Amino acid sequence: MTNEDEGLRLDSLTVRLGTRRLFAIDRHVAGGETLSVMGPSGSGKSTLFALIAGFLDPAFTAGGNVRLNGRDLTGLPPERRRVGLLFQDALLYPHMSVGGNLLFALPPRLRGRRQRLEAAEAMLAKVGLAGYLGRDPATLSGGQAARVALARTLLAEPEALLLDEPFSRLDADLRSTVRDLVFAMVADRGISAVLVTHDRDDAAAAGGPVIDLAESPE
Ligand code: ADP
Ligand code: MG
Repeated sequence: MTNEDEGLRLDSLTVRLGTRRLFAIDRHVAGGETLSVMGPSGSGKSTLFALIAGFLDPAFTAGGNVRLNGRDLTGLPPERRRVGLLFQDALLYPHMSVGGNLLFALPPRLRGRRQRLEAAEAMLAKVGLAGYLGRDPATLSGGQAARVALARTLLAEPEALLLDEPFSRLDADLRSTVRDLVFAMVADRGISAVLVTHDRDDAAAAGGPVIDLAESPE
């Protein structure tokens, strides 16, 4: 892999909805870096994520290319893209324990129940929740659920991470703790991250470039 191939490349991406052009974006997000995307409701932020993750609604027409660490993602199904997502809500499966939620996310290539449990446990410890494997998600605080969701996403070993306002439901204290944890993990693992946010503080904490989709060039 050459330097050119490293990270997430959004090469001349354009998305149209009928005759309306939603946005155009041409950006490179290096491993360990977070690109913050701002823009009013309806400007296409979630659509950009759907395009990168591989579930763009056929109502849209996309142009350009998405490349991740040298791989062209065009045409790959979502599960083969190595793109992780984190949303506003933790979206944990309520009928499974915390451990069940995590094991579910582990790549099948990691074999053996014991090894899989150890991987889940080690990741929980990294997000400050050692010993939480057996917990019912319903008993978690908002900040704890957010950290389990982060652990679950990271266990799938994503090369890119798409963050769709993942901190917006957390109150101020927790918000900066969870935020710092996410960006530390991104930097530590060399993940290329894209953050959608309405909050300038979030974008500043991400530490990378900031773009406004509504101002994308013609
Ligand atoms: P944002 O996340 O920035 O609020 P979206 O990406 O959700 O914006 O939506 C961008 C535009 O596309 C909006 O005008 C929205 O109404 C429209 N849109 C979203 N999803 C669909 C769809 N499945 N079919 C048609 N139009 C859609
Ligand atoms: Mg949206």
